Amino acid sequence: MEATLCDSKSLSSDQDGTNDQANIAIRELKIYQKQWSINVRVLRNTIDSFKNGEGNKQKLILIDEEGTLIQAILFNKLIEKFSGLLIKEETYTITNGEVKPPNLKYPTINPEKELTLTTKTIIRETKKIVSLEKLKPTFLSFKDVSAFDDGIMPFDVVGFVITVKPIFTNPKSKRREVIIMNKERVSITTKSSTLVLVNPEIPQCSEMIDWLKNSNSESSKSVLLTTTKRITQANRVKLIDVINTSPQLSKSMFCSFVAKIITIINAEEPFFSACTKCKKAVHEINGSTANCTNCKNGNSDWTIRYNLRLEVNDGTDTAYVTLFDEAEILIGCTAIAYVEMFEDESSECYQKMKSCLEKEYVFLVKINEKEESNRKARCIIAQEVRKVEEIHPPTVETEETGRNKVIDARK
Ligand SMILES: [Zn+2]
Repeated sequence: MEATLCDSKSLSSDQDGTNDQANIAIRELKIYQKQWSINVRVLRNTIDSFKNGEGNKQKLILIDEEGTLIQAILFNKLIEKFSGLLIKEETYTITNGEVKPPNLKYPTINPEKELTLTTKTIIRETKKIVSLEKLKPTFLSFKDVSAFDDGIMPFDVVGFVITVKPIFTNPKSKRREVIIMNKERVSITTKSSTLVLVNPEIPQCSEMIDWLKNSNSESSKSVLLTTTKRITQANRVKLIDVINTSPQLSKSMFCSFVAKIITIINAEEPFFSACTKCKKAVHEINGSTANCTNCKNGNSDWTIRYNLRLEVNDGTDTAYVTLFDEAEILIGCTAIAYVEMFEDESSECYQKMKSCLEKEYVFLVKINEKEESNRKARCIIAQEVRKVEEIHPPTVETEETGRNKVIDARK
């Protein structure tokens, strides 16, 4: 069955002699169709060897703008040919290849079709990123997942990674246990069709991150201590660019700078009493409630929050950086624990805070207009802070494990 689409267009060729076809949706691909062009984002990319290492098979899971998922495979020489392409999370235009019915003996992401890329396939990078908006996972609670223990029906779960164990290898497979949690615990196994998306831009993921931030459990704290995507991806600039809001920093964007902590200005009291509702300082405290002038409420709940003020220097310029809740990264415990544990300057948390002196950190700053004059006065609020060496952390994604890998959430 030859392709009939875009006959008029297929007459025109672009520079590399390929048909300049219009992109279609994965939904529109017909079984055995050979000429087509799709715009897709790579969500999973694994390479396995087979026949005792004689051959290699690359497996991709792709998504298009309609949210349709499809698996694509390619072998041996083609893997080399496209080795600089098909990077996870990037979007590509893939033109031509074979559309086949999937072998239902193996787990598949699309029960109707899959793609085999061939020597006729052209792959081009494109700047038009496919969003995950239409990917509508129906997340099951961990409790409900136990009904799926036959391993046949696929399901979606959302959780946060709390521990990544070393890779365990035996002659037949490679596996690695990753412990995930949400509000519950369960043990699940991934398959070759499983998608593991780290911090995908979908509402359920942001909700979980918010929940974590408001949760006080030990596990949620450890998650918050892992490097977030923001600080890893933010534009790295010089301290002077932040102070002067240099034009390269467009409004409401995040940027980061590296600087050494030279003084802890309020080491004696790096915290304050804050209204739990508006997070602003309260002064007249009556037991568990306080008078919040900001909320105009004489009966507000209050808590202890960090407000750590630092003097930093990047080798050229000096500035004052304020850290609120993120000071926990430097001090190693919550503000409430800090106050409870503090006895004198020999306290562990106090010593940990002092140990940050003379060391270099990456600071994340949100460039909003409201703070512009403060930045000009060299007073900067940092949204995140990390040790310089943590900004290129080992990946937390699971390694491919032969056929299966394990996500264990028992602990
Ligand atoms: Zn308030």
